[in-house]
Amino acid sequence: MINKEQHFEKMREDMVNSQLAPYGINDPKVLKAMGTVPRHLFVEEALMDQAYGDFPLPIGEQQTISQPRIVAEMTQALKIDKNSRVLEIGTGSGYQAAILSRIAYKVYTIERINSLYVNARKLFDKLKYHNIVTKYTDGTIGWNEESPFDAIIVTAGAPKIPDELINQLKDGGKMVIPVGDKRTQNLLLLEKNGSSVNERNLGACRFVNLIGKDGW
Ligand code: SAM
Repeated sequence: MINKEQHFEKMREDMVNSQLAPYGINDPKVLKAMGTVPRHLFVEEALMDQAYGDFPLPIGEQQTISQPRIVAEMTQALKIDKNSRVLEIGTGSGYQAAILSRIAYKVYTIERINSLYVNARKLFDKLKYHNIVTKYTDGTIGWNEESPFDAIIVTAGAPKIPDELINQLKDGGKMVIPVGDKRTQNLLLLEKNGSSVNERNLGACRFVNLIGKDGW
């Protein structure tokens, strides 16, 4: 008989082997983080058995935890390491921040819905993910006091790239952000080089809306 934790560990291993490794996720740091963080704890109890499926899930407040593959893709695109300081806009369940925190030096994450912010903070403490700092506010204006960041990740769909987030990115830093209309977006990978910003389109995606001063 296997216990509950072994059951979820097996599901996590299957997720890495079937949904990530065959689809271009090859950074060992990302694969290790995805194989370690207990994704089932980031969803409500009734959904735990679906947590390692190849789809997003509801987390309440009409928000979602992203599909594992998109979490891994966005993380890999940022090219972070143990020295990186990363800003995330849209804490949601906290899962993406948890993945980043297993690779980076420190993660700063902002959420605009209080109940999600409170739940994620509690879970980070329970899991002893002490290198995650949380804030409850509108993230479209970034986190100026802690800037500049090596990487910025926006996990909600924006109508345009918020200027303030570009300002808070280090020279040479990378940002991933879904940009488009309210229903579908393109996942953009930006790299700041002095006063210019290089842009690459990683493909179509669908996120909930980024709501705030420099969002919808
Ligand atoms: N990263 C999350 C995870 O791992 O569960 C998924 C995030 S969910 C797709 C998008 C989140 O962005 C929602 O929780 C939403 O409330 C939040 N959000 C939207 N606009 C925001 C803003 N201006 N500032 C901070 N959070 C925002």
